[in-house]
Amino acid sequence: MSKNKQPELKEVLCVAIILSALSMCACSLKKDPEPPNARTRYDLLNTVITISIYEDTGEKVFNDAFDKISSIEKAMSVTLSDSEVSVLATMAGISPCVVSDETYFIIKDAFDISAQSGGAFNLAIGPLVKLWGVNTAAPRVPSLTELERVKDLLDYNAVILSDTDKSVYLTLEGMSIDLGAIAKGYAGDAAADVLRSYGVKSAIIDLGGNVVTIGGRPDGADWRIGIRNPIIGESGHIGVVAVQDKAVVTSGGYERYFESEGRYYHHIFDGKTGYPADSGLLSVTVISDSSTDADKLSTVAFVLGYRDGAEFLGKYTDTEAVFITTDLEVYMTPGIKDAFTITDNRFQIAG
Ligand code: AMP
Ligand code: MG
Repeated sequence: MSKNKQPELKEVLCVAIILSALSMCACSLKKDPEPPNARTRYDLLNTVITISIYEDTGEKVFNDAFDKISSIEKAMSVTLSDSEVSVLATMAGISPCVVSDETYFIIKDAFDISAQSGGAFNLAIGPLVKLWGVNTAAPRVPSLTELERVKDLLDYNAVILSDTDKSVYLTLEGMSIDLGAIAKGYAGDAAADVLRSYGVKSAIIDLGGNVVTIGGRPDGADWRIGIRNPIIGESGHIGVVAVQDKAVVTSGGYERYFESEGRYYHHIFDGKTGYPADSGLLSVTVISDSSTDADKLSTVAFVLGYRDGAEFLGKYTDTEAVFITTDLEVYMTPGIKDAFTITDNRFQIAG
């Protein structure tokens, strides 16, 4: 039996409830935050997005933030056939295409992290993602012949960028880029910028579990953000991180997967093997000032595994991570240890 796991409304509501419950349990010594001014949209980025502002604002700030997210999706989606990213795939092997400044900026960021991570993050992973169909209603395990056929198309060095005219050329016919591991993070930063431009000082933007916090709670306390239980089939959270003005972004096999002949296959691939990354992790959560960075780095760390992933993240300042292994051990970078609390004692802090 094959089952493609899309984020479901009840799960997302569960995240929202956890967030509000955690905010409340954080406040035993302080006054509860006022109920947020919150709006939810179900039609963007294939996920549920909730913006909660802990101040009185008009409607326009919400509309502008959602409009911004929508424009990012229109440009960077792989599923919308007229997005800039889809047009690039149509023109693969034919000619370069000029893209918008914003799309160019993200493609360049994705290219750079692909090179820096030695392909753990792979901007050119598109043909492999399509072959497995993990983001479709009919996912399946491809044959070795099929995997062999797409192998050469996954070469991110065959993506040619020109800073001069902001053009992108996928030089091999059949190539496609996939910004699924970075665009949601960027949308979080962009939405936060919209809120800040309205003077918002206390808010949470939750893009299907990619959380961006603005400031702290209205009473000045930290936000307490739940880290999702990464065991497939379970729900709830296994711990919380206390943060202010940070993005908290998780990559995990549980987010999208299917089952075939008794095995689970998830949506984050190791381009070198052609199979879902199997680095001994159930999830990695990255905590960073930038949601774009947290998104791309959580994907890198998930593919690399705990040891190489932690070493890679060590190059980034103010970037922390929580790694959960398949043995339910929790590893952390030093800077987050005091801010992280386990809430499910089946998970043990390692080391
Ligand atoms: P994330 O949840 O941020 O780790 O992103 C996962 C999504 O990024 C997948 O659904 C794919 O669309 C895409 N993706 C899968 N594997 C990779 C990879 N190794 N590098 C870059 N993008 C990937
Ligand atoms: Mg990512």
